[in-house]
Amino acid sequence: MFVSPDVATCPDCLVELSDPADRRFRYAFLNCTNCGPRLTIVTGAPYDRVRTTMARFEMCTECRAEYDNPADRRFHAQPTACPACGPRLALSGRSTGGGEPLADFATVLRRGGIGALMGLGGFHLVCDAACETAVATLRRRKHRDEKPFAVMVRDVQAADALCWMSPTERSLLTSPRRPIVLLRRRGEVRMARGVAPRSSRLGLMLPYTPLHELLVREIPGPLVMTSGNRSDEPIAHTEPEAFERLAPNADVFLTHNRPIHVRCDDSVTRVVDEEELLLRRSRGYAPVPLGLPCPCVRPTLAMGGQLKATFALGRGTRAFVSHHIGDLEYYEAYRAYVEAVALYRRLFDVVPCVVAHDLHPDYASTRHGLELARAEGLELVGVQHHHAHMASVMAEHGLEGPVIGVTFDGTGLGTDGSVWGGEFLVGGYRHVRRAAHLRGVPMPGGDRAIREPWRMAVAFLDVARAAPAAASALGRLEGRVGGTRVRTIRRMITRGVNAPSTSSVGRLFDAVAVLVAGRCVVSFEGQAAMELEWLAEALEPDGVYPFDLDAGPADAAGDMPLVVDPTPVVLGVATDLDRGVPAARIARRFHSTLAEIVASVCSRLAATDGVRSVVLSGGVFQNALLTREVVGRLRSDGFSVFRHRLVPPNDGGLSLGQLAVAAATSGGSAAGTR
Ligand code: ZN
Ligand code: ZN
Ligand code: FE
Repeated sequence: MFVSPDVATCPDCLVELSDPADRRFRYAFLNCTNCGPRLTIVTGAPYDRVRTTMARFEMCTECRAEYDNPADRRFHAQPTACPACGPRLALSGRSTGGGEPLADFATVLRRGGIGALMGLGGFHLVCDAACETAVATLRRRKHRDEKPFAVMVRDVQAADALCWMSPTERSLLTSPRRPIVLLRRRGEVRMARGVAPRSSRLGLMLPYTPLHELLVREIPGPLVMTSGNRSDEPIAHTEPEAFERLAPNADVFLTHNRPIHVRCDDSVTRVVDEEELLLRRSRGYAPVPLGLPCPCVRPTLAMGGQLKATFALGRGTRAFVSHHIGDLEYYEAYRAYVEAVALYRRLFDVVPCVVAHDLHPDYASTRHGLELARAEGLELVGVQHHHAHMASVMAEHGLEGPVIGVTFDGTGLGTDGSVWGGEFLVGGYRHVRRAAHLRGVPMPGGDRAIREPWRMAVAFLDVARAAPAAASALGRLEGRVGGTRVRTIRRMITRGVNAPSTSSVGRLFDAVAVLVAGRCVVSFEGQAAMELEWLAEALEPDGVYPFDLDAGPADAAGDMPLVVDPTPVVLGVATDLDRGVPAARIARRFHSTLAEIVASVCSRLAATDGVRSVVLSGGVFQNALLTREVVGRLRSDGFSVFRHRLVPPNDGGLSLGQLAVAAATSGGSAAGTR
């Protein structure tokens, strides 16, 4: 019996929760075989109460009778409990009233305080979403400038009052998986401005535990509910850790004595063309197995990437893709990753013979994979980053290939040692050819250019510096960030100092966002691109910018990939700015231009390679507007188009792709990218 994901409180349990005559009336930990904690409390396999964090609670006579009765809804419900025998709430912190923990916690929130809530997969920081000062305080304490906060609403009617919802969005919001759903907000809603500044979207979720249900009944309005961590660190999940890390952030702590064993963030999803597009696959989704088109004859562990990391275990046609673990550059996240790999191996009884990994030697996931392989004598399969992205969509759809893999993302190591991210790969699981790509531009300062996208704007403009529009755009940039800084960056570019080449579409998005939306520094990766999408989304298509498409020089394998030069695109943007064209229209044209680039390259590749199937992957395809336009354009050109529905297009989906490639190649030669 596999352990299932955590499941939101079921309707039967909700009835008991509200029934004064029921012995579990207002009990924050009620559950049954149809709902409750699963992955987050499991400590070993097989799944049984003694191998969960419920082991410490001995069932009372009544609970035991239900548990043993095959006719009862709680027959073999491993986490079953009641007020007499189960976990309890406790309150601590600066502002305790000495009353009932939940009521006191709610009182602090109603007065504009910030609470730390021990939930299902970790701690959340919680405050009244209508209270401007509470939200501002939370932002300041969390060192989080602008990244939108998620909001918990009491029911679907409350969600309706805040946001527009399609039937698919509504069914995702209310599904037992209970993800955060990104929804389009209504014009005038009662909500602090600081919840999601400058955003046309709100991330909403419904209560998913009895504790949440009880809490939302105590507070009239929606609640900000954000991971309990500082900035981008992983979510805190144990009491000592939460007290240490969150003490400066929270006025009060509502905790309980059912430990969280597996740290698991909320899942985040959105809907594009009435189909799901996952941004973070975690609580409620993992570890449901996904299917593999080509069986893993030899059990395989795929290590995933570095940011938004997940790993995956493959056995036969089943792929167990882990929950979202986060950014492995944080030691805490790395430790959680290593522990989760070990736990999943036990839970799903997979003893890997093969380790699949990214080619980047400095990814913590790669390093851990190499360590395991050395210690256990396992075969290694290195999978190029964008090949893994492409294989991950193919695996979702059971495609065998060959396909054209359009993979647009921020950063991934290419086989030539440069940073890729605007790639058209042709092939399948065993083999791909880099058939086309964006022209490389310098990334001044390396990763610093991700946080300071104005550096990318300088890099793109510098190529076209002879054109008047580029000169005036550079002049405006100097006005914003200072002439000395711009000149320093231009010198770095000329001398090639600390300026690795990148073909990344993510960086092109950044550069255009700097020019159009004026954002020179971002507080999270992809922020600039997201703002461009919001600017553009209300407009109808309105023309495209020119670009160059030519055969480039022969690569190491003797192929001559097509090279897309985006310089004319950036110049077109700069020219429109000079003419006073509104930012939204420029943003719209930029999206259409990328769709045009994809369509042109695919039609050239279809002519040379005879391939009519296209898969879309990479973090850039989290952008709904771009995804919709590219899919529509390619379909009207007669292509079969496939995009992600089951795993995220970002690096959270890499592990599935690595697994699919390893399944097709292990035992034979390693996967090849030319
Ligand atoms: Zn239930
Ligand atoms: Zn009991
Ligand atoms: Fe990537």
